[in-house]
Amino acid sequence: MPEKIKLDGCVNCRACEMACSLHHTGKFGYKYSSISIGLAGDGVGVCFKEPFTCDTCEGEGENNFQCVKYCYRAKDALRVFIAAQGKGISAV
Ligand code: SF4
Ligand code: SF4
Repeated sequence: MPEKIKLDGCVNCRACEMACSLHHTGKFGYKYSSISIGLAGDGVGVCFKEPFTCDTCEGEGENNFQCVKYCYRAKDALRVFIAAQGKGISAV
């Protein structure tokens, strides 16, 4: 699993993983998520799983990232991560 990027405000609820799973499969299951949430240093962070499966929520509407939509506390940080990495651009 790649190193996780810290997300300001993230509370490790993993709702984003459930939203991603639902987008891909129509059902809930952490194993279907493109992203993984977990401890990162003294906080909580995110990484894309390998193999890379994020399609930036194709079919859900423009920039309508389901993980961000249902994020509980770290929407802005997660949006930046997805927008940058989901298009193959390195995160800042
Ligand atoms: S933007 Fe990517 S990581 Fe987020 S829910 Fe959609 S497919 Fe999953
Ligand atoms: S939904 Fe938001 S607050 Fe919850 S684990 Fe995912 S990024 Fe963190």
